[in-house]
Amino acid sequence: MKKILVAGAGHGGLTAAVHLSKNGYDVTVIEAKEKNDLGHDWHDSMNMSAFDMSGIPRPTKEMYIASKAQSFRNPAGTVRIDLPFINNDEGFYIDRKVLIAYLIECAEAAGVKFLFSHKILAPITKNNKVLGLKITDGKFETKLEADLVIDAAGLNSPVRKNLPISCGVQRTIEQRDVYHVFRAYYKNTTGEVTNPPVTINMFHMNRPGIDWTITEEDFVDVLIGKFGSAGVLTEKEVEETLKKFRQDYPFISEETVRGGQFADIPLTKMLPMLVCDGYAAVGDSAGMTIPLNGSGIVLSMKAGRLLADTVLKTKGSYSKKELWSYQYEYFQRLGKELILISTLKNFFTYVDAKQVDLLTEREILTADNLNIYNGFPLTAELVGKMLGTVPHLMNLIPHLLGSFKGYPLLPLVSKAMPKEYDEERVKAWAKLYSKL
Ligand SMILES: Cc1cc2nc3c(=O)[nH]c(=O)nc-3n(C[C@H](O)[C@H](O)[C@H](O)COP(=O)(O)OP(=O)(O)OC[C@H]3O[C@@H](n4cnc5c(N)ncnc54)[C@H](O)[C@@H]3O)c2cc1C
Repeated sequence: MKKILVAGAGHGGLTAAVHLSKNGYDVTVIEAKEKNDLGHDWHDSMNMSAFDMSGIPRPTKEMYIASKAQSFRNPAGTVRIDLPFINNDEGFYIDRKVLIAYLIECAEAAGVKFLFSHKILAPITKNNKVLGLKITDGKFETKLEADLVIDAAGLNSPVRKNLPISCGVQRTIEQRDVYHVFRAYYKNTTGEVTNPPVTINMFHMNRPGIDWTITEEDFVDVLIGKFGSAGVLTEKEVEETLKKFRQDYPFISEETVRGGQFADIPLTKMLPMLVCDGYAAVGDSAGMTIPLNGSGIVLSMKAGRLLADTVLKTKGSYSKKELWSYQYEYFQRLGKELILISTLKNFFTYVDAKQVDLLTEREILTADNLNIYNGFPLTAELVGKMLGTVPHLMNLIPHLLGSFKGYPLLPLVSKAMPKEYDEERVKAWAKLYSKL
């Protein structure tokens, strides 16, 4: 029986584990945390398409709560942009602990084994092939062998970071492609709820990135964020922002109800190589988020299913040649759509709060192009508008051109991607892709 190790109980790894175990593979998930400690201490937005495509049964109604209406505010507070709100069960908020517990329950029911409270130290490799994982329970180190390692260990995966350079997988995700956040729920002292409940503040406190408040009768969910291009989010910045939020919303108390952690999210397009011999990355480890807001749950789960489908079709050597079809399918079906968003994010790292004010006041940034859950249907038009109609933003033109210079290559990159693995053609493709 083929042995598969899943590094980290990430969403995509768990999804792949369910399908592989159901199909007779010997699958073990190695997770650093205790079972009860898994999942962030807050709710996240996602949608049913993740379950439908991944083949995991939809969660029951009591497991999630309804989506909420959102509005964006510009840095000066002069413009409020309300996003269209559709209240149905397709999009929802789910407690991350509930979601992870559910995915683990599905995996256990499918026969997946778990080693909780075991930290992965590094992959075991020989001649560019991943042969297993070196792990520890805090006292003893153990070597586990596998036919395939699925890397679902997130942004700072110790597996990806320690692959031999010659494997061709990017080992680190650059600081400028990381979003630093702090998130906590504070007690709502009066029960007042804003209308709409979700307020997303662009370049709040002149800091590149977004902050949000989501008001509920019992608590206020506060997220404070900063693009990595502007440095690491500091405790002082968090304190100052909380102070400002408490001036604007006096009902936000000092009492933390949940969360209160700093965390990092990759904001990048898919990494150029997701596979090598005996190895495949999925989820945050592979750069699979929406590169402007960091939503990665849906993409991770869908990718987990694509990976499992590829593994099921292979002859069992799990060479990069066999696993390439997973990367091909992910890119063609999901990843390529996100490239424009990634370049837009790169552009936003050059913009300052005053320029965001101009872009909103002149209605260049509107509800249509801020609604990333609609897949940014107007992003290309947005770029055109910025380039063509804003002479007062002249100093941004070089950055716009710089950020989007690779954009015309997109159809070419998509077409040039070899469907079957061929070392030279894949290398040439990855080089072209990296230019986007
Ligand atoms: C504040 C915040 C808000 C977010 N909001 C949303 C949202 O609303 N919607 C959305 O879709 N996404 C959201 N995201 C992004 C989302 O969390 C990720 O994109 C998503 O979790 C996919 O990541 P993953 O499953 O690949 O890995 P992760 O969720 O990072 O899981 C990796 C797992 O690997 C384990 N691990 C790591 N290192 C080791 C090791 N050495 N040994 C063993 N195990 C290890 C970790 O403990 C963890 O369980 C948010 C993220 C943050 C931080």
